[in-house]
Amino acid sequence: MKALVFHEHGTLEQVTYEDVPTPEIDADEVLVEIKAAALNRLDLWVLAGWPGLRLKMPHIMGSDGAGVIAEVGANVDGFAVGDHVAINPTKSCGSCEFCLSGWDNMCQTFAIMGEHVDGFFAEYAAVPARNLLKMPDNASFEAAAAASLVYVTAWHSLIKRGGLQAGESVLIIGAGGGVNTAAIQIAKFAGASTVYVVGSSEEKLARARKLGADVTINRNEENWGKVIYKATNRQGVDMVVDNVGAATFTGSLRALKKGGRLLTVGNTSGPTFEFDNRLLFVKHISLIGSSMGTIQDYSEVMALVFNGRLQPIIDTVAPLSEGLTAMKRLQDGDVTGKLVLQP
Ligand code: ZN
Repeated sequence: MKALVFHEHGTLEQVTYEDVPTPEIDADEVLVEIKAAALNRLDLWVLAGWPGLRLKMPHIMGSDGAGVIAEVGANVDGFAVGDHVAINPTKSCGSCEFCLSGWDNMCQTFAIMGEHVDGFFAEYAAVPARNLLKMPDNASFEAAAAASLVYVTAWHSLIKRGGLQAGESVLIIGAGGGVNTAAIQIAKFAGASTVYVVGSSEEKLARARKLGADVTINRNEENWGKVIYKATNRQGVDMVVDNVGAATFTGSLRALKKGGRLLTVGNTSGPTFEFDNRLLFVKHISLIGSSMGTIQDYSEVMALVFNGRLQPIIDTVAPLSEGLTAMKRLQDGDVTGKLVLQP
């Protein structure tokens, strides 16, 4: 089968579109004929590699996929050849203390498909049955693939970990990335009173408003901390979503109300930074980290994608053979939504 792979870590020059063996399935897996896959920044980080990441080479890239079941393992119940399925990218064992208590994204053997093991930029993928979610036949493979990783991540962060309640105010730092655009939609869906979004370009902020943002702040033109301070009658917001990190964390702490929550699932401006701890404890702020989402979260948020209540923004749909061009665009930041590939 054809796949987008790399044989060693490095830059996009290492990525090739080539023939690899079609995977064989275990008894608890199914073979999915991939109909759509989507790119994430994660793909570029995995390509670059980091200390301790040991992949079986060649590595098939891509953490978002959806398709049609082509073969079913001997121990798999509830799925049949021909079923349309979306794939939860978080692999978990199903038997450790975290999995048994419903926190499978904290699994002892946690892995992300496309990151630690082969992914979905291929014609077929072997997927554990516990990672599959049946799609309605009329639901879009492209939307399912575009939504999976970022929506489950944002849902787990805002709803499960953050406990967002109707009537609360939310500030989202960054208008561009997939998790942030999902967070805007999810915050509005959950009934947030006001969703503030800080961004760097008018184009991205206009899109944020379309997605439901109530107040947008261009950080190149305004001091967003002051805007929030004034707009909230000097109280601050109930929740801040900060997946930027070094450049914004102190501002996010300042923008929170006493007793507020600061959610983070990543750090696009760098992982290591200092902040004034007094902002944390004097204001009784909860700092809430999370990564990916649970099987339950995946089925909850994807039901809303399947029925159109949450709609991922898709920039372009291209053939898998043109995946390298899509990766270059992602690397250059030249995208306004998800890039989807079709094998
Ligand atoms: Zn487990």
